[in-house]
Amino acid sequence: METKILPIDKDSLALSKSIIERGGAVAFPTETVYGLGANAFDDAAVRNIFAIKGRPSDNPLIVHVHAGYDITKLVSRIPEYTKLLAKAFLPGPLTMVYESHNKVSAAVSCGLDTLAIRVPSHGGAQQFLKYLDLPIAAPSANISKHVSPVTAQHVYDDLKGRVELVLDGGKCSGGIESTVLDCTGDIPCVLRSGLVTADMIAQVVGECHEYVMKEGEKVRSPGMKYKHYSPNCQTVLFEYAERSKAFEEYNKLLNEGRRAYFMCDDGIFKEFHPQNILNLGKDERQIAANLYDKLREGETVADIIVAVAPEKQDGVMVGVMNRMRKAFG
Ligand code: AMP
Ligand code: MG
Repeated sequence: METKILPIDKDSLALSKSIIERGGAVAFPTETVYGLGANAFDDAAVRNIFAIKGRPSDNPLIVHVHAGYDITKLVSRIPEYTKLLAKAFLPGPLTMVYESHNKVSAAVSCGLDTLAIRVPSHGGAQQFLKYLDLPIAAPSANISKHVSPVTAQHVYDDLKGRVELVLDGGKCSGGIESTVLDCTGDIPCVLRSGLVTADMIAQVVGECHEYVMKEGEKVRSPGMKYKHYSPNCQTVLFEYAERSKAFEEYNKLLNEGRRAYFMCDDGIFKEFHPQNILNLGKDERQIAANLYDKLREGETVADIIVAVAPEKQDGVMVGVMNRMRKAFG
């Protein structure tokens, strides 16, 4: 199969509609990462998404809808606080998990009785979703366990020959996947951290829990148990306090003839000025936006990435550090 990368316009939207309507998959941009979308009502199309990615069959998908879509068609109980959260954060990088009506394919939620829904803010994503006027089940558009894609080229590098169309909406501005929030209880609970933080949610609705996986308990966010975001090269991660040791290690590797690259934020870069640098940027938003792009760049230039965790670890950095630790094993 030939894989086309096209800008989002009348022609590519019409093509995406014909692909989706005959049960195919289309990759599209969002403000977090690129998604690989299929009609959520179409069982075979949803199963095909798992096959294309090599995704474990117990890792549920998020359904994406346009801003005007009536979600009461899909879910049964919509707590009052979700309306406040929608007003504050949607469209945007917040996924809310509701009790499901079981209207979409059972493969979307992998047998769970809940459904995760997201309204992306990316203009191209909204155009695509509005044009189709369908709920689109979409995981990130990468091979399972690889680094999530934040450009159309990243999608192409992973899925060339496996998808017909990649809609190109430029580099994703957010850079890490959406916050996943369980909204089935009286108090919302963050299952996966992201750009909308637990503090931001608590400010709107008064209280917000953060899920910690306990031994022996049934996992509430199946996706979180898998290895993720890994670049195809060796990696080693040092804590902020050990940054001098990290720089020594990087130099030692270079002296041994290794193609070592140093990944850190701009502050740490200015302390050491390494030659082979994967600079994550100045603040938490830049670091989130650059992380996957720099991991993908790293695997093409380096045989080992030596990374240092930024000093700040709260707020948006909770989500960033969660990805960094998974990427670096
Ligand atoms: P991805 O699309 O690859 O970013 O993965 C989607 C994430 O959403 C995974 O971590 C899933 O575990 C989570 N997710 C999707 N649907 C549900 C659901 N019904 N309940 C809890 N988590 C969900
Ligand atoms: Mg993913």
